[in-house]
Amino acid sequence: MLLEVKNLSVQFGEGPRAARAVNNVSLSIDAGETVALVGESGCGKSVTGLSLMRLIETPPGRITSGEICLAGQDLLRIPLKDMRKIRGSEIAMIFQEPMTSFNPVYTIGDQLIETVLLHEKTTLQQAHARAEDLLTEVGIPAPGERMRQYPHELSGGMKQRAMIAMGLLCNPQLLLADEPTTALDVTVQAQILDLLRELQARHNMAVLLITHDLAVVAETVKRVYVMYASEIVEHAKVEELFREPLHPYTTGLFKCLPKLGGRREELHVIPGSVPNPSDFPSGCHFHPRCPLAKPICSQESPLLEEKRPGRLCACHLVEKVAAKV
Ligand code: SF4
Repeated sequence: MLLEVKNLSVQFGEGPRAARAVNNVSLSIDAGETVALVGESGCGKSVTGLSLMRLIETPPGRITSGEICLAGQDLLRIPLKDMRKIRGSEIAMIFQEPMTSFNPVYTIGDQLIETVLLHEKTTLQQAHARAEDLLTEVGIPAPGERMRQYPHELSGGMKQRAMIAMGLLCNPQLLLADEPTTALDVTVQAQILDLLRELQARHNMAVLLITHDLAVVAETVKRVYVMYASEIVEHAKVEELFREPLHPYTTGLFKCLPKLGGRREELHVIPGSVPNPSDFPSGCHFHPRCPLAKPICSQESPLLEEKRPGRLCACHLVEKVAAKV
């Protein structure tokens, strides 16, 4: 096991109005494996990713409990200066908007070279050569010229490729990719996903793909964790999830996918919106939006349990959902 997260909880603020952004989340990733964390905006998936890097700003945020073990080492128990070395060299993160990763006043080359020099004992020439090689590997034409350009001079797709190069500079074992294709148009999205798959296989790197997009999940990963209102509500292999979603929220997400030839007015939406993390509903967090809710759902929180061999789901009425599907 490369990464094992156990019972991770994160909150923002203090007292009864604190926002419980991540609640008791457990997940694991093997070396070289690609896993997705899926859910709507605001469900806590990006906060989970930032917590793995220990990038939650404190205050107002705070990891209140849990373990984040990377290759057996609990990242929450090591000094911050050691964590800074691990960031970039063992875990790297890429974001939806590359401009948040690049400093607009330095050239792409300066920023890539600085990252190498920060993590490795190497010469300036070697760092320059490594940066240029990686730009070539991520499919950027004329890499020497791009090294001299500023971030705003690159197109959205090129910037995203450059950010992936930045993430891979020090050969991390784990790449966290937070909505890496959301800001791109559809053809560029497909190219970036292909690139991530190629790099993942070539470097035998594990990838945690954080996304709201089930179509991206279908093409990219082996296993999926579905997150709703700060909690994991379902976990399955991707084929099993697509064949038979067990949780009503997952079923709702599938219904929201547009169908080829379907009428526009048939597009399904899950009624309501993700609840405020300062004021989650009692019992199952999904009950105000769930078409199958029964009185028990607002009274008792369902546990995330094995409902099929190798599959986890947090719902009191799984068999009803399966019958409906
Ligand atoms: Fe719906 Fe109840 Fe299952 Fe929650 S526990 S998802 S409210 S059926």
